[in-house]
Amino acid sequence: MADPKGFLTTPRETPKSRPVALRLLDYREVYEGFASDKLQKQAGRCMDCGIPFCHQGCPLGNLIPEWNTLVWREDWRDAAERLHATNNFPEFTGTLCPAPCETACVLGINDDPVTIKRVEISIIDRAFDEGWVVPQPPAAQTGKKVAVVGSGPSGLAAAQQLTRAGHQVVVFERADKIGGLLRYGIPEFKMEKHRLDRRLDQMRAEGTEFRTGVNVGVDITAEQLRTEYDAVVLAGGATAWRDLPIAGREFDGIHQAMEFLPPANRVAAGELDVSPINAEGLDVVVIGGGDTGADCVGTSHRQGAKSVTQLEIMPKPPESRSAAHPWPTYPMIYRVSSAHEEGGERLYSVNTQEFVADSAGRVRALKLVEVKLSDGKFVPVEGTERELPAQLVLLAMGFVGPQREGLLEALDVELDPRGNVARDKAFKTSLDNVFVAGDMGRGQSLIVWAIAEGRSAAAGVDAYLTGRDLLPAPIAPTDRPLT
Ligand SMILES: Cc1cc2nc3c(=O)[nH]c(=O)nc-3n(C[C@H](O)[C@H](O)[C@H](O)COP(=O)(O)OP(=O)(O)OC[C@H]3O[C@@H](n4cnc5c(N)ncnc54)[C@H](O)[C@@H]3O)c2cc1C
Ligand code: SF4
Repeated sequence: MADPKGFLTTPRETPKSRPVALRLLDYREVYEGFASDKLQKQAGRCMDCGIPFCHQGCPLGNLIPEWNTLVWREDWRDAAERLHATNNFPEFTGTLCPAPCETACVLGINDDPVTIKRVEISIIDRAFDEGWVVPQPPAAQTGKKVAVVGSGPSGLAAAQQLTRAGHQVVVFERADKIGGLLRYGIPEFKMEKHRLDRRLDQMRAEGTEFRTGVNVGVDITAEQLRTEYDAVVLAGGATAWRDLPIAGREFDGIHQAMEFLPPANRVAAGELDVSPINAEGLDVVVIGGGDTGADCVGTSHRQGAKSVTQLEIMPKPPESRSAAHPWPTYPMIYRVSSAHEEGGERLYSVNTQEFVADSAGRVRALKLVEVKLSDGKFVPVEGTERELPAQLVLLAMGFVGPQREGLLEALDVELDPRGNVARDKAFKTSLDNVFVAGDMGRGQSLIVWAIAEGRSAAAGVDAYLTGRDLLPAPIAPTDRPLT
């Protein structure tokens, strides 16, 4: 156990964020550093519970009490080793995860939970700084070839596990750079891309090969891939976005979030001078109250938007757990992300009826109406219709599943009732040597689930290719997200 009295004597403390006025001037991560003595005290709050519910909350089964104790004892190197025992990329989860482990923490029943995520990122940052994160090439090669399609967190986790198990792994990515949503979806202010690049350096040194600019199903046929490789892992994500087919959708100035965020990320990365979709000086309305919407809010502010409003059809969630979401579940509560701290307005229980354009066919406003839930349906509240000015509208209403045209159609792989790629317990699809991991099989989810799926699919591939039971499989394909 860490400090036996830590949870009684030390209140929860997290690092301060950089002042809003300052951080809006750049795309750097918003949090300031945290002194290691402070972090040690935070780790010391862990009670090393007999039944650590934090494990249950984490899809990766992270060994949280173990690394809390090691940090408390200042044994950072062993803490880093225990961290990597279950998670290939703690720097991704340590910056981006909504931390279902913290909402499951036993201390959270009657006090503030342990700041697990902060401990995680501090361990991995220290490990990179100290040079403890080194390539781990395999001791021997199996002679088997594996193709991974897609380089998001699930594809990368699968690739790293399989390379280390001795297979020759090639990752195919249709974008010009590796990383999936980590690269061109998620903004720098949530995770700076050098974290991704240094991990890719490690993977290259271990022997993983990356081929960018290859759209599998177009540039190389699915059949070619199946013949040339002993196994294929589909990790293409859930990229088919949900649209809003209402009157005026065709007006200029209305874009999907994933049309807006990638060029903004390219500007932040110095690959582009100005984004073709720019919020500067505009009233921006973001439709959709989730994380993707929040990323649009933060990016719009950095581009110099005149005003930013985020719309959500659901009612405003409660400030604390309701009876419907008891501990240790991940509760639906009102959350203020770093992007929301930076300004803008959030409107709940509103629906967009139509878009209004100026004479040039460019959007100038939305017609809104308040709604209430009646018999499970949203019904308009009479007399609440109004116009909300908007010269840029961003649709952030989630994703309906993987893109079917191209690769999946060519493979003619079986889909599940939700339209995702169906798989068995070993993450194998309906096709003999084809496996699936991440959002492509699970549907839109989280980084932590993508990494867990990549690890589990790798275990399935390795067993398929060699008949051995070597790699860990943290989850079953049917495990549901806690979020
Ligand atoms: C804007 C945004 C912000 C998010 N923020 C968070 C967050 O803060 N925290 C969190 O936990 N989750 C977040 N998520 C969700 C998270 O990013 C995803 O759940 C996760 O990235 C899924 O990983 P993946 O590997 O399955 O797929 P992806 O990351 O989507 O990667 C799939 C890759 O496959 C490639 N690809 C697809 N088809 C082909 C093909 N035929 N040939 C070659 N390449 C192909 C794509 O180009 C893409 O690079 C966010 C999602 C979005 C959209
Ligand atoms: S549930 Fe919380 S207090 Fe208990 S072991 Fe996990 S992190 Fe520590």
